[in-house]
Order: sequence, then C-alpha cells, then structure tokens
Amino acid sequence: MSTKRVFNFSAGPSVLPLTVLEQAAAEMTNYRGSGMSVMEMSHRSKVYLDIFEEVKADLKRIMSVPDTHEVLFMHGGATFQFSAVPMNLIGKTGKADYAITGNFSNLAAKESKKYGQVNIACDSADRNHTYIPEQSDLKLDPDASYFHYCSNNTIYGTEWKYVPQTNNVPLVCDMSSNILSVPVDVSKYGLIYAGVQKNMAPAGAAVVIIDKSLAGNEHPLTPKLMSYQVMIDGDSMHNTPPCYTIYMLGLVLKWLDSQGGIAGMEKIKAAKAKILYDVLDESKMFIGCAEKEARSDMNVTFKTDSEELDNKFVKAATGAGFENLKGHRAVGGMRASIYNAMPTEGVLELADFMRKFESQN
Ligand SMILES: *Cc1c(COP(=O)(O)O)cnc(C)c1O
Repeated sequence: MSTKRVFNFSAGPSVLPLTVLEQAAAEMTNYRGSGMSVMEMSHRSKVYLDIFEEVKADLKRIMSVPDTHEVLFMHGGATFQFSAVPMNLIGKTGKADYAITGNFSNLAAKESKKYGQVNIACDSADRNHTYIPEQSDLKLDPDASYFHYCSNNTIYGTEWKYVPQTNNVPLVCDMSSNILSVPVDVSKYGLIYAGVQKNMAPAGAAVVIIDKSLAGNEHPLTPKLMSYQVMIDGDSMHNTPPCYTIYMLGLVLKWLDSQGGIAGMEKIKAAKAKILYDVLDESKMFIGCAEKEARSDMNVTFKTDSEELDNKFVKAATGAGFENLKGHRAVGGMRASIYNAMPTEGVLELADFMRKFESQN
C-alpha cells in the first residue's frame, strides 16, 4: 500500500487533474448544500440541470462551437460512434471514405462496412502505422457521404498535423485521444466525437459535436439511443445520461480554464512532448516508434532494440513510481501517454529516469 500518488502514464482511462479529484471528493456526499451527492440526483432536477447546462456551455465556449453545431453526451464510448456514424450518415449516398492510420480507425472502417460501401482513402498499415499519409495520398470519393479519420492514433503514437481537405464531403473525426489539447475549427467538421476517458473525464460517455443539418437521415433500424436527431431533440436526455461523468467533465473544463484554455494547453502539451522526444533523439538506447513528422504529443511510443531490455525498463520504471508504460501489443516497447492532466513534473522525472536507465544499462 502506498499513500503517494504515482505518475500514471495510462493510455485510458487515464490521469485526471489532482485538484479535480480533490474537488469531487469534497463535494462527494453533499454537493454545494444540496444535501446529496451528484451521483444521487435526478437528472431532471434543477440542481443537476444547472450542472449539465454549465458543462455544455463551457465546452461550447472552450471549443468555440458555432451555433450550427450541437454538443451531445452519449453512452457507449467512442466505439459506439463507430456504429452510430454510419447508421446516421452513410445513407445520404450509401458510400463513405475512411482513412486508416491505426487500430481505432481500422475498427471504425470495418464496422461501417455493415451499412454501406466503404472506400479506404488511405492505409498506413504498410509501415505499421508509423506515419500519417499526406493530403496528396488521400484517394477521395467525391460522392462519399462523409470522410472519417482519427486525429490521434493512441496505440501507434501518431497525430494528424493537418485537417484533410475533402471539398464538400463532411469531415467526421474521432478525436478521443487529443481533444482539448489543440485548437480545432469546429465549423470545418460535420461531426467530431471523443470517448471522454483520455482527455476529458472518467469513462462512461462520449462527447459528440455535430452539424445539426447532418442529423435526421438515419437508417430506419437505428436504435433510438444511436440517433443523433433523437439525442438533439432530447438534449442528450432521452434516457438517463451518464450524469456523474458529465459532472466530472465540468470540473475538468474549469481546470482547463485555469491552464489558459486550449491555447494554454497547446503550449504546455507541446513542451511536455518535446521533453520526451528530446530524450529519444539524444538516446543511443531508446528509439521512437513513430516517424518524426507524425509524432503524437499525447502518446509517446518508443522501444529499445531488445524486448528483454524493454521489459526491464518497464519493471524498473514501475518500481520508481512511473505506472502503465508498457506499450500496446500491436507496437511493443513502451508508451508514455501524456494527456492534458499529466503534470510537467511527471514528464521531467520520467525523462530523468530514462537517461539514468540508459547510463546504467
Ligand atoms: C480509446 C479510443 C477509442 C475507444 O474508446 P472506447 O470509449 O473504449 O470505445 C476509440 N478511438 C480512439 C482514438 C481511442 O483512443
């Protein structure tokens, strides 16, 4: 048993800001004089609706969501959206474009094939998803109902550095692992979704930001709770929403404000990522898995030239208070997920630890 908090580099669910956890703890049994926990409240009560409206308004403000778009809170995580997106949107022309740059975009493309004709606009599997294809590499179908991509590849540690240009084909993006870390021009997107457990909140919801004009044309067999129109009409409360997760998201958004919002976070996260990438670039032992131009600022993937040494590193790191550094089996090696809530101190200490480990091995 340890009384000290570790540095948690988990890919998700992942670290939350300590002040957020402390505030949630302080409000746990009696939320601001209501006499009850947020967990115990009716989602139709005034006290909860006030929380809900504030979270939604804060997210709209922080992401500069235009009035053409609606913010939804949905069950089922990001994977639920792999099905919801095609069920709602592919019917327009019966076709959709998918860019495959990693595990999750591949799963999204596979799922969408149940509902229509899927064109693979690009696939980085030829180099084990170590890079992001360029605009000129994208094979676009002008007749696609939408173009789907994943802006940050959590497992492989790559990140799109540009917004794909698709003419008038609506952009749909899985931003689960880098939402709120970089400014996004929401007006460019038909739909953005993110499972909240990476950069937003504890698990239990997905945030969806949808251009309202795209909703209402879903396949007739679309389950009610998957219909964006039903969710828009019911203000995400067609049934009981993930109330507590939404409340936690609200606390995280207030914390984000205290960090200078997304503009502030963009600087902080870039500086944190540079600390680790500098170690990799100077190292004779550690090798970055992703190509330099495609490196993710959220998930830093690296390895040594020996699996045995990788294991030794992970074990030693765990012993020193750096948790969850083992890489995903698809890549091997190590992965340090350094989401918004990972303190710079944790990254600095990990960098020191890596340098020491190299000098001693
Ligand atoms: C984690 C993750 C998912 C899967 O999220 P769930 O909420 O578990 O369904 C999908 N896409 C990306 C980019 C992720 O990082």
